[in-house]
Amino acid sequence: MHQVGLFWFHNDLRINDNPALAQAAASCKQLICVYCMPPSTPTAGIKGPRDLSANRLDFLSQSLIDLDNSLQQYGQGLVVMDQPAMQALAQLITEYSIEHIFSSDSADFYHNQICQTLATRYSLIGFTQIDNNRLFKASEMPFTVQALPDSFSKFRRKVEPLAIQEPIVRPNSLPPPPSRKNLAGIDLKRPAQNPVALFEGGETAGLKHLENYFSRGPASTYKETRNGLEGMDYSTKFSPWLANGCLSPKTIIQALRCYEQEVESNDSTYWIYFELLWREYFQWYAQKYGKRLFLFNGIKSHKPSTSFYSERYQKWCQGNTPYPIVNACMKQLNATGYLSNRGRQLAASCFVHELNLDWRYGASYMEHQLVDYDVASNWGNWQYLAGVGADPRANRRFDLEKQTRTYDPQNRFITAWDGHPQASALDSVDAADWPIEQDATR
Ligand SMILES: Cc1cc2nc3c(=O)[nH]c(=O)nc-3n(C[C@H](O)[C@H](O)[C@H](O)COP(=O)(O)OP(=O)(O)OC[C@H]3O[C@@H](n4cnc5c(N)ncnc54)[C@H](O)[C@@H]3O)c2cc1C
Repeated sequence: MHQVGLFWFHNDLRINDNPALAQAAASCKQLICVYCMPPSTPTAGIKGPRDLSANRLDFLSQSLIDLDNSLQQYGQGLVVMDQPAMQALAQLITEYSIEHIFSSDSADFYHNQICQTLATRYSLIGFTQIDNNRLFKASEMPFTVQALPDSFSKFRRKVEPLAIQEPIVRPNSLPPPPSRKNLAGIDLKRPAQNPVALFEGGETAGLKHLENYFSRGPASTYKETRNGLEGMDYSTKFSPWLANGCLSPKTIIQALRCYEQEVESNDSTYWIYFELLWREYFQWYAQKYGKRLFLFNGIKSHKPSTSFYSERYQKWCQGNTPYPIVNACMKQLNATGYLSNRGRQLAASCFVHELNLDWRYGASYMEHQLVDYDVASNWGNWQYLAGVGADPRANRRFDLEKQTRTYDPQNRFITAWDGHPQASALDSVDAADWPIEQDATR
């Protein structure tokens, strides 16, 4: 039994189905529950917006407040630190003579790097990291992480027959914190009501959403509707809670299986599982490739021919490109912090293939904006679309006009989000920085 343990919450902001927390509860006399705010430097040091967008920060704050409330029911509480994790944890280790650190396994290379540095620096402290945010454990898969299949299809065929463990129940009790005297983090303020916010953060809201989704029936038509651009029901909207760990993927599968047994099992319900396997694939992909998730050439040996043009980048971020459907997507993303899967594909394809921009800046911008930002899904999907990732097809360029005809034939989405560009030309200066005349016939 450890005298004082520390539980480092990261992307597992929940009490239910949290095996690392259950283990900490069973093996410590006192426990400190800590969360360190994400660093303001974007992943991989790509220059872009610094802080989290207001939408992302609101969702995160709501999730942390909800977790703190849940912990308080156990006589515990969440200490939220606003310093870099390395510094915050080092301070707590020394101040409270921590004997053991518990956390959930993560696909985040930089998070794991901190864990490794701490383990090396504090060699007398024990570290336990438990797989927590995936459907399968490494030991349950028929291949090692390093031998992860090079395409999603091969991965799916191998893992689909595997049984998925049931989620574990919440702990009955948690050890108390040490003296609260110095144990103070930052105060979390409940964000002001945002009229365009689509989601409320936290495990409580996530469980409510899960129940609500499966009690209303859209799961039965998911396969037909999943490419929608606007609305709450065309897709599951599980991603914000999954990304922040307010819901575990196993909890979702349990609810899905229940729906299949009690209501209906069809192609659509299978397809929800299929999409969760995409998530699973990218989690293992990030684990396998580590830092290569953020490289310009990704996991390939050749560098893309794209570059950086600040005017094009700004126009894409603001939703003022010559492509109305992309503009509408970007305006929706900026306003709500959420974008459909189809919208993300179109925006990313435009960024790389029409604007010829270095994909990492687009990935970094989405990291800033998305309430469901997940390191593995975001950077993995961007690599895929930029042709430097796990895609067996070399060029995944979307025909934006055709996509508009298919997915927004009446231009309703474009109109709703004011996607028509203010200027029709992409660039206002040429390669030598000379102004480009917009109408040469005058
Ligand atoms: C450029 C780009 C960036 C993306 N960035 C993120 C990100 O940061 N975080 C994130 O969670 N997803 C990301 N995705 C994947 C996908 O767009 C979102 O998971 C999905 O739109 C979330 O909405 P939903 O929960 O309603 O999805 P649904 O269609 O209902 O799917 C159910 C679940 O399956 C998973 N899923 C579905 N599609 C994918 C996919 N292509 N890759 C990985 N998992 C998937 C998600 O966990 C999702 O919640 C990105 C996709 C692209 C093309």
